[in-house]
Order: sequence, then structure tokens, then C-alpha cells
Amino acid sequence: MKKVVKFGGSSLASAEQFKKVGDIIRAEECRRYVVPSAPGKRFSGDTKVTDMLYQCYGAAVREKKFAGLLEDIKARYNEIIEGLGLDLSLEKEFAIIKENFGKKIGRDYAASRGEYLNGIIMANYLGYDFIDAADVVFFDENGYFDEVKTNDVLSKRLEESERAVIPGFYGSMPDGSIKTFSRGGSDLTGSIVAKAAKVDMYENWTDVSGFMIADPRIVPNPKAIEAITYKELRELSYMGATVLHEDAIFPIRKEGIPINIRNTNAPEDKGTLIVEATCRHPKYVITGIAGKQGFASITIEKAMMNSEIGFCRKVLQVFEDNGISIEHMPSGIDTMTVLVHQSEFEEKEQKVLAGIHQAVQPDSIELESDLALIAIVGRGMRSKRGTSGRIFSALAHAHVNVKMIDQGSSELNIVVGVRNHDFENAIRALYDIFVITKI
Ligand code: ASP
Repeated sequence: MKKVVKFGGSSLASAEQFKKVGDIIRAEECRRYVVPSAPGKRFSGDTKVTDMLYQCYGAAVREKKFAGLLEDIKARYNEIIEGLGLDLSLEKEFAIIKENFGKKIGRDYAASRGEYLNGIIMANYLGYDFIDAADVVFFDENGYFDEVKTNDVLSKRLEESERAVIPGFYGSMPDGSIKTFSRGGSDLTGSIVAKAAKVDMYENWTDVSGFMIADPRIVPNPKAIEAITYKELRELSYMGATVLHEDAIFPIRKEGIPINIRNTNAPEDKGTLIVEATCRHPKYVITGIAGKQGFASITIEKAMMNSEIGFCRKVLQVFEDNGISIEHMPSGIDTMTVLVHQSEFEEKEQKVLAGIHQAVQPDSIELESDLALIAIVGRGMRSKRGTSGRIFSALAHAHVNVKMIDQGSSELNIVVGVRNHDFENAIRALYDIFVITKI
């Protein structure tokens, strides 16, 4: 049994958190490869080291004094080193960083130092090898992650190392310069290492006990999801559920390596298991509920629309020409509605309306704004009668008017559109019917 363990910023924000992480790693022999993030917030209102680095580098680029800001960052690391009682000095590393910032070597280099330095501390603390991600994670000339080269080099390097720390978030370009993934990208490094080391499990340790069935800011103390498939996760993440980086499942989705989201502050909790497929029946009909606010709808009406070949295409072309992406498109016999992000649509609204008039000469166009979309997701809904009935009766009882319904043909999700001001009420009503009362 072999595991990759990735720890997020809040799990490594202080010496106290590092000690919890050390205990977790030492509790299981098989936790052989460790991917750390940079130190995150120690308390609400604190600043993540990554953000401090961006700030500090920004000052260097603007030719402002940055030495003081760099000292503040050094102090964050020294606090951890002292708290752990390590015999380690990062003075030389900071001298190099200072010089490179002075040369304006690059914003990605600057951000990556957060993970790099934390990796050095972690390797020293655990007595593991340190592998610089710049030597084993690669991007191509266009800045895209080079999966083939990375897997080739990294798997060979890991074979030589029984136990190692590989910092998350960055790699190198063909010219040797440093490049990072998008924010939260250490999750991706964890997946990449999991694939290269052919591990049995990728544990992703954070500060929550897995994915919750609904957003805890809306539903008090929601239950955690025990097991979720990649597809369900994709639906929920797309609709705003954020625990794991959206792209983190891609490197391992064809490898059969499950991801287990765990809580560093509650290691006894089982967390959420993310898998390709599972026979495990979900506890509830639904796996999760997620939603987003801020949509607008454009409803186009024209008599005999259904017999006009190419009508939808011409309408969609107008959106494409204006660079607006479409979320949903429910239609009737003589009407079609297009749902879009309000913020993207607002500034181009009149151009789009004119474009539609020219393209299809509709009888009328109606606009509605301030809409929210809620996705009810679950493999347990497939071939199960009455799920949509329960959704609509729950919403009706909560006095929520449903503006739109869309069920994916995979029967994995049902999306409902409601007004923004009904959004939270609707989510609570859905959680109540499927999880609490289970009627
Ligand atoms: N430290 C980086 C960030 O704050 C990457 C990560 O934590 O995954 O986004």
C-alpha cells in the first residue's frame, strides 16, 4: 500500500499545524510521498504566504522597496522552524530569492517560493528526501502542463526515493524558468505525483471533513458526502462547490486512484472518497446540492419557430459572436430561452438583442435578470421515480417559484432556476426534504 498525501495551506500555517501533519504522516507507514502547499492563514484576517509573495514581488517590479515585505515572509517561516525546534536556516535561500526579485525574474517564480520553502522545512522535519518540483514537473513552450514528460521523469525519480516531499503548485518551462498552475494548484501536483508513483490512494488533507451535501454557509451543519463519483463532483464543482481544484481529477481519472478528502483538524473523520465508479449506494437519493446566483435569461418568441430550420443555430451564433457562453437552453414550441451569466451579458445586452432581431426576426424578446441556478446531483436519482416531484413539492412548500427546469439526459442532475432572493431558501428546502425528513 502506497499513498500520496497533500496538505493545504491552512494545514501548514503554523508550527502547531505542522505537528498535526507530522502525526498524520507518521500514523501510517504507507504515507510515503508528501505534497505541501505554502503556509496559509493562521486566523481569519491573516494573509496567505502566496499572497504576501505576490505583493512583495509587485513592489520589486514597481521599483519600490521590497526588503521589508520579504522579511515579513521570512518571519512566517522562521516562526515555523523555531516552533518545530529544527536545526535549519533559510538565510541562503532568502538571499537568492532577494537577488532574483531584484532581477524581476518572474511573478510565477515569486509565488512558487511559498511551496518551495515549505517543502524544504517539511522534508527536514520528517527526514524525507526533498525533490524540487522544477526538476520533475514540466510545462511545454505554450505553457501547458506536459503530462508525458512529467510522468516519465517523475516516475523514475520517485522509484529512487522511498519517502519524499515534492512541493505543490509549480514546475518548469523548457527554458528552465518557473511556472505555476492556477491558484489552488497544489491539488493538481498531488494528482500528478499520485499517478507517477502509482499509489493506491491520494489523500488530500484540508480544513473541512470532505464535501458537504450543501454549502455550510446556507445550511447549518450539513452532512458530509461519504462517496462521490468524478462525474458528480464535476457537476457540483461547476456549480460552485469548492474544496478541490477543478482540474485535480484529470491526471488520475483513468488510473483508478481514489482521492480521499480529509480534515487535518479532525483526522478521525473519514472525509469524502472520490472515485471513478462505485457500487456503494448513496445514503440519500441525492449526493449533493450546489448553486450559483447572477444569471439572466433571454426568452425569444416567434410563431411557428419549431418549423424554421436553423433557428436555434442562428440565435446561438449571435451569442458566440459576442463572446458570451451559454449555461442552459430550455425551449418550447414557439419559444426558446437562453440562460447566461448576467455579468458577461450586461455590457453587451443591446448588441445581442439587435443581433437576434437581425438574425431571426422574432415576435418578441423578453429579458429577466437576477436568477439563480441550483443543481441537485446524484447517481441515486437514476431510474428512481418521483425525484423531480419531491423537488417541486419542496420548493412549492417553501413558496419558491421555479422559473426553469433542466434535467441532464444522464439523469445525474436536475437544474432548477429560481430568483436570486429565493436561492438560499430553496437550497434549505431541498436539503430538508432529501436529507432531514427523507420523505
Ligand atoms: N499556494 C497556492 C495558492 O494559494 C497554491 C495552493 O495552495 O494550492 O493558491
